[in-house]
Amino acid sequence: MRKRILLLEDEQAIADTLLYALQSEGFEVQHVRLATHALEAFRSQPPDLAILDVGVPDGSGFDVCRAIRKTSEMPIVFLTARHEEIDRVLGLELGADDYVVKPFSPREVCARVRAILRRSAATPLTSEPAPPTSALLQLDEAAQRIRCGNEWLALTRYEFQLLATLLRRPERIFSRVELMDLVWGGALDTSDRTVDAHVKLLRAKLRARGVQAELIQTHRNMGYSIRAVD
Ligand code: CA
Repeated sequence: MRKRILLLEDEQAIADTLLYALQSEGFEVQHVRLATHALEAFRSQPPDLAILDVGVPDGSGFDVCRAIRKTSEMPIVFLTARHEEIDRVLGLELGADDYVVKPFSPREVCARVRAILRRSAATPLTSEPAPPTSALLQLDEAAQRIRCGNEWLALTRYEFQLLATLLRRPERIFSRVELMDLVWGGALDTSDRTVDAHVKLLRAKLRARGVQAELIQTHRNMGYSIRAVD
Protein backbone atom coordinates (compact mmCIF):
# COMPACT_ATOMS: atom_id res chain seq x y z
CA MET A 1 0.00 0.00 0.00
CA ARG A 2 1.21 3.49 -0.77
CA LYS A 3 2.62 5.38 2.20
CA ARG A 4 0.88 8.63 3.00
CA ILE A 5 2.87 11.72 3.84
CA LEU A 6 1.59 14.96 5.31
CA LEU A 7 3.61 17.95 4.12
CA LEU A 8 3.35 21.27 5.92
CA GLU A 9 5.16 23.94 3.93
CA ASP A 10 4.03 27.49 3.24
CA GLU A 11 6.49 28.27 0.45
CA GLN A 12 4.92 27.06 -2.75
CA ALA A 13 8.17 26.59 -4.68
CA ILE A 14 9.62 24.35 -1.96
CA ALA A 15 6.37 22.46 -1.61
CA ASP A 16 6.24 21.90 -5.37
CA THR A 17 9.73 20.37 -5.60
CA LEU A 18 9.01 18.13 -2.62
CA LEU A 19 5.61 17.10 -3.91
CA TYR A 20 7.14 16.20 -7.24
CA ALA A 21 10.01 14.23 -5.71
CA LEU A 22 7.88 12.36 -3.18
CA GLN A 23 5.12 11.55 -5.63
CA SER A 24 7.69 10.27 -8.15
CA GLU A 25 8.84 7.88 -5.44
CA GLY A 26 5.32 6.54 -5.11
CA PHE A 27 4.27 8.37 -1.97
CA GLU A 28 0.82 9.83 -1.58
CA VAL A 29 1.28 13.40 -0.34
CA GLN A 30 -1.19 15.73 1.29
CA HIS A 31 0.13 19.28 1.19
CA VAL A 32 -1.05 22.02 3.57
CA ARG A 33 0.28 25.53 4.19
CA LEU A 34 -0.92 26.24 7.70
CA ALA A 35 -0.29 24.62 11.07
CA THR A 36 -4.03 24.45 11.79
CA HIS A 37 -4.62 22.62 8.54
CA ALA A 38 -1.80 20.21 9.31
CA LEU A 39 -3.46 19.29 12.59
CA GLU A 40 -6.86 18.91 10.95
CA ALA A 41 -5.32 16.64 8.31
CA PHE A 42 -3.52 14.61 10.96
CA ARG A 43 -6.72 14.15 12.96
CA SER A 44 -8.98 13.26 10.07
CA GLN A 45 -6.59 10.75 8.49
CA PRO A 46 -3.28 10.09 10.26
CA PRO A 47 -0.48 9.79 7.69
CA ASP A 48 2.48 7.41 7.85
CA LEU A 49 4.93 10.29 8.23
CA ALA A 50 4.80 14.07 8.54
CA ILE A 51 7.22 16.60 7.07
CA LEU A 52 6.81 19.86 8.97
CA ASP A 53 8.20 23.25 8.03
CA VAL A 54 9.25 25.01 11.23
CA GLY A 55 8.22 28.53 10.17
CA VAL A 56 4.63 28.81 8.92
CA PRO A 57 2.32 31.86 8.95
CA ASP A 58 -0.01 30.73 11.73
CA GLY A 59 2.51 29.19 14.11
CA SER A 60 5.30 26.69 13.95
CA GLY A 61 5.98 23.13 12.96
CA PHE A 62 7.17 22.58 16.52
CA ASP A 63 3.63 23.28 17.83
CA VAL A 64 2.22 20.81 15.35
CA CYS A 65 4.81 18.25 16.45
CA ARG A 66 3.92 18.75 20.13
CA ALA A 67 0.25 18.28 19.38
CA ILE A 68 0.87 15.15 17.31
CA ARG A 69 3.18 13.67 19.92
CA LYS A 70 0.37 13.74 22.50
CA THR A 71 -1.29 10.87 20.71
CA SER A 72 1.09 9.52 18.12
CA GLU A 73 4.64 8.28 17.65
CA MET A 74 4.35 8.78 13.92
CA PRO A 75 7.70 9.68 12.26
CA ILE A 76 8.21 13.43 11.92
CA VAL A 77 10.80 15.27 9.84
CA PHE A 78 11.35 19.01 10.25
CA LEU A 79 12.29 21.42 7.50
CA THR A 80 14.22 24.35 8.91
CA ALA A 81 15.63 27.49 7.39
CA ARG A 82 19.28 28.37 7.95
CA HIS A 83 18.53 31.01 10.57
CA GLU A 84 16.47 28.48 12.51
CA GLU A 85 19.46 26.24 13.01
CA ILE A 86 19.46 26.94 16.69
CA ASP A 87 16.04 25.31 16.87
CA ARG A 88 17.18 22.00 15.52
CA VAL A 89 18.25 20.65 18.87
CA LEU A 90 14.81 21.58 20.17
CA GLY A 91 13.27 19.71 17.25
CA LEU A 92 15.07 16.52 18.23
CA GLU A 93 14.09 17.00 21.84
CA LEU A 94 10.47 17.28 20.78
CA GLY A 95 10.76 13.83 19.31
CA ALA A 96 11.44 14.56 15.67
CA ASP A 97 13.00 11.69 13.78
CA ASP A 98 15.06 13.89 11.55
CA TYR A 99 15.36 17.38 10.18
CA VAL A 100 16.57 18.86 6.95
CA VAL A 101 18.02 22.32 6.55
CA LYS A 102 17.02 24.53 3.63
CA PRO A 103 18.17 24.68 0.94
CA PHE A 104 18.01 20.92 0.54
CA SER A 105 17.86 18.59 -2.37
CA PRO A 106 14.47 16.89 -2.73
CA ARG A 107 16.34 13.64 -3.29
CA GLU A 108 17.98 13.95 0.09
CA VAL A 109 14.58 14.43 1.71
CA CYS A 110 13.23 11.39 -0.13
CA ALA A 111 16.20 9.30 0.98
CA ARG A 112 15.65 10.31 4.59
CA VAL A 113 11.91 9.64 4.39
CA ARG A 114 12.54 6.18 2.96
CA ALA A 115 15.13 5.41 5.65
CA ILE A 116 12.80 6.52 8.45
CA LEU A 117 9.85 4.55 7.12
CA ARG A 118 12.05 1.46 6.80
CA ARG A 119 13.14 1.83 10.42
CA SER A 120 9.65 2.45 11.73
CA ALA A 121 8.29 -0.50 9.77
CA ALA A 122 10.86 -2.71 11.47
CA THR A 123 9.75 -1.59 14.93
CA PRO A 124 6.38 -2.69 16.28
CA LEU A 125 4.37 0.34 17.37
CA THR A 126 3.99 -0.91 20.91
CA SER A 127 7.69 -1.43 21.54
CA GLU A 128 9.92 0.91 23.50
CA PRO A 129 12.49 2.90 21.54
CA ALA A 130 15.68 0.97 20.87
CA PRO A 131 18.01 1.09 23.86
CA PRO A 132 20.69 3.75 23.40
CA THR A 133 23.45 1.33 22.75
CA SER A 134 24.87 -1.12 20.30
CA ALA A 135 25.91 -4.58 21.39
CA LEU A 136 29.56 -3.74 20.90
CA LEU A 137 29.58 -0.38 22.63
CA GLN A 138 27.93 0.54 25.91
CA LEU A 139 27.27 4.15 26.68
CA ASP A 140 27.47 5.10 30.34
CA GLU A 141 25.76 8.51 30.36
CA ALA A 142 26.21 9.10 34.08
CA ALA A 143 29.96 8.58 34.05
CA GLN A 144 30.44 10.00 30.54
CA ARG A 145 32.30 7.02 29.24
CA ILE A 146 31.88 4.28 26.67
CA ARG A 147 32.76 0.65 27.06
CA CYS A 148 34.02 -1.47 24.23
CA GLY A 149 33.90 -5.14 25.16
CA ASN A 150 35.38 -5.36 28.64
CA GLU A 151 37.30 -2.12 28.56
CA TRP A 152 36.49 1.56 28.72
CA LEU A 153 37.58 3.54 25.69
CA ALA A 154 40.09 6.31 26.27
CA LEU A 155 38.39 9.19 24.50
CA THR A 156 38.88 12.92 24.37
CA ARG A 157 35.93 15.11 25.28
CA TYR A 158 34.85 15.63 21.68
CA GLU A 159 35.46 12.03 20.68
CA PHE A 160 33.21 10.99 23.55
CA GLN A 161 30.49 13.49 22.62
CA LEU A 162 30.61 12.44 19.00
CA LEU A 163 30.42 8.72 19.69
CA ALA A 164 27.76 9.21 22.38
CA THR A 165 25.64 11.30 20.01
CA LEU A 166 25.72 8.53 17.42
CA LEU A 167 25.09 5.82 20.03
CA ARG A 168 22.01 7.50 21.44
CA ARG A 169 20.26 7.01 18.09
CA PRO A 170 21.67 3.92 16.39
CA GLU A 171 21.02 3.86 12.63
CA ARG A 172 20.02 7.52 12.53
CA ILE A 173 22.03 9.51 10.02
CA PHE A 174 23.48 12.71 11.45
CA SER A 175 24.66 15.34 9.01
CA ARG A 176 28.00 17.01 9.64
CA VAL A 177 26.20 20.26 10.45
CA GLU A 178 24.07 18.49 13.04
CA LEU A 179 27.12 16.90 14.59
CA MET A 180 28.89 20.25 14.73
CA ASP A 181 25.87 21.62 16.61
CA LEU A 182 25.36 18.68 18.92
CA VAL A 183 28.99 17.87 19.67
CA TRP A 184 30.84 21.14 19.28
CA GLY A 185 27.93 23.39 20.23
CA GLY A 186 28.34 25.42 17.07
CA ALA A 187 31.87 26.53 18.03
CA LEU A 188 33.05 28.88 15.31
CA ASP A 189 36.28 27.12 14.50
CA THR A 190 34.67 23.80 13.61
CA SER A 191 34.06 22.68 10.07
CA ASP A 192 33.06 19.56 8.17
CA ARG A 193 36.68 18.54 8.42
CA THR A 194 36.61 18.67 12.19
CA VAL A 195 33.83 16.08 12.15
CA ASP A 196 35.56 13.92 9.56
CA ALA A 197 38.84 14.04 11.47
CA HIS A 198 37.19 12.94 14.70
CA VAL A 199 35.36 10.12 12.98
CA LYS A 200 38.69 8.96 11.62
CA LEU A 201 40.22 9.04 15.10
CA LEU A 202 37.29 7.12 16.57
CA ARG A 203 37.47 4.47 13.88
CA ALA A 204 41.17 4.02 14.57
CA LYS A 205 40.52 3.63 18.31
CA LEU A 206 37.77 1.09 17.66
CA ARG A 207 39.95 -0.86 15.27
CA ALA A 208 42.68 -0.91 17.90
CA ARG A 209 40.15 -2.63 20.19
CA GLY A 210 39.51 -5.27 17.60
CA VAL A 211 36.23 -3.89 16.27
CA GLN A 212 36.37 -5.19 12.73
CA ALA A 213 33.11 -4.07 11.23
CA GLU A 214 32.73 -0.51 10.02
CA LEU A 215 30.62 0.45 13.00
CA ILE A 216 30.53 4.14 12.16
CA GLN A 217 29.08 4.33 8.70
CA THR A 218 29.61 7.07 6.14
CA HIS A 219 26.56 8.05 4.11
CA ARG A 220 27.60 9.89 1.01
CA ASN A 221 26.41 13.52 0.96
CA MET A 222 24.38 12.88 4.13
CA GLY A 223 26.62 12.23 7.11
CA TYR A 224 27.34 9.50 9.63
CA SER A 225 25.47 6.90 11.60
CA ILE A 226 26.37 4.08 13.93
CA ARG A 227 25.20 0.57 13.18
CA ALA A 228 22.90 -1.14 15.63
CA VAL A 229 24.73 -4.44 15.85
CA ASP A 230 23.06 -7.43 17.41
CA1 CA B 1 8.28 28.55 5.98
